[in-house]
Amino acid sequence: MTRLLLIGPPGAGKGTQAERLALAFNVPAISTGDIFRYNVTNNTPLGLEVKSFMDAGAYVPDSLTNAIVADRLKEADAASGFLLDGYPRTTDQVAELDRLLVAEGTQLDVVVLITADTDEVVARLLKRAAEQGRADDTAEVIRHRLDVYAEQTAPLIDVYSTRGVVVTIDGLGAVEAVTDRILAALAERGLRASTTTL
Ligand code: ADP
Repeated sequence: MTRLLLIGPPGAGKGTQAERLALAFNVPAISTGDIFRYNVTNNTPLGLEVKSFMDAGAYVPDSLTNAIVADRLKEADAASGFLLDGYPRTTDQVAELDRLLVAEGTQLDVVVLITADTDEVVARLLKRAAEQGRADDTAEVIRHRLDVYAEQTAPLIDVYSTRGVVVTIDGLGAVEAVTDRILAALAERGLRASTTTL
């Protein structure tokens, strides 16, 4: 049973590392950003509701986000562990996740904080904009997303640090090197991956 959470600024590499860690620990990677994007692409009612927030680089309202995650965590594949990427992002979402975990009689094992300085993340996001054309990767929206992160999400690091569950990982360097750092830090906490050949 491995329950992990990835936190870090936009562009820190959470999504990339989430996929790799999910494979290593054999748990589903649950990304609220991916869930929302999927719904926008497919023009679902949820997609129509969240599109304007996402395009503006604003957070989707907590009520909506919390409901999506509560549903997703009830699915069978999450019963034996999960890796949350991009949730929680607000103190309200922390409270909801706490409530969900208490109801299940479980708790988070580790919160992985991936760091990268602002120049680096802006450069990465602009590169991704050129390659993938994500609607929220324009220079102006990126700046806004970084501000929202600093205001609403960075404070969560203190909340989880107080609980003694945070490991901080330098997100600079090759993808594989960052994964290795995370795996080593998790192993130190007694969390061993089922496979390290990624
Ligand atoms: P990034 O990590 O690059 O900011 P994500 O793919 O995680 O990108 O999220 C993209 C967008 O999806 C966010 O800017 C926000 O609009 C929405 N979103 C994702 N997760 C949450 C969340 N937990 N709470 C509110 N909005 C969210």
